[in-house]
Amino acid sequence: MDGKVVIFSAPSGAGKSTIVNHLLKKFPELEFSISATSRAPRGNEQDGREYYFFSAERFRQLIAEDKFVEHEEVYPGSFYGTLKSEVERIWAKGHVIVFDIDVKGGVNVKRIFGDKAFSVFIQAPSVDVLRQRLIGRGTDSAEAIEKRVAKAASEMEFAAGKFDYVLVNDDLETALAEAEKIIGKFIEK
Ligand code: 5GP
Repeated sequence: MDGKVVIFSAPSGAGKSTIVNHLLKKFPELEFSISATSRAPRGNEQDGREYYFFSAERFRQLIAEDKFVEHEEVYPGSFYGTLKSEVERIWAKGHVIVFDIDVKGGVNVKRIFGDKAFSVFIQAPSVDVLRQRLIGRGTDSAEAIEKRVAKAASEMEFAAGKFDYVLVNDDLETALAEAEKIIGKFIEK
């Protein structure tokens, strides 16, 4: 059974998770696509909730078995991907899939699903603000933060013109209201 998909991509620290979690609460027909990853769980992340956690070896095996809709090596040595079984699981319930996925993956998923997909790029106001947000989150080392900031700068360049909608997260309340409006419209269509 085929349904709709909503894609959110953003440099990390742009407020993507906050916006996605807000929308998941607001619209019961939305369901989060749980990605597979080869990175280790962070904080209190649980297998089958935030991600399906696999070893790099098992991940490569799943790639070889053609089990993924898309997959990327988002950070060197860390693989992320969406399993075909995850898409089927959510559509079988008649739900709209929500992807929280890196910028390259977002562009790929949009290409795969075409008109069934609505892709949103969440833009942080600036690289400096982004760095401050990541520091404030307190879950990453200084080195990891600089890696993410460098990646963010190149992602902003890459994303220009490739998404259906660019949502600037300058003021969170405004961004949440705007997100509700555009997603509501797409779901009802
Ligand atoms: P984190 O390690 O912070 O959870 O995620 C790192 C990046 O990987 C984020 O930008 C996240 O959106 C992205 N990501 C998560 N799942 C997938 C996926 O299935 N495919 C791709 N290409 N990227 C993903």
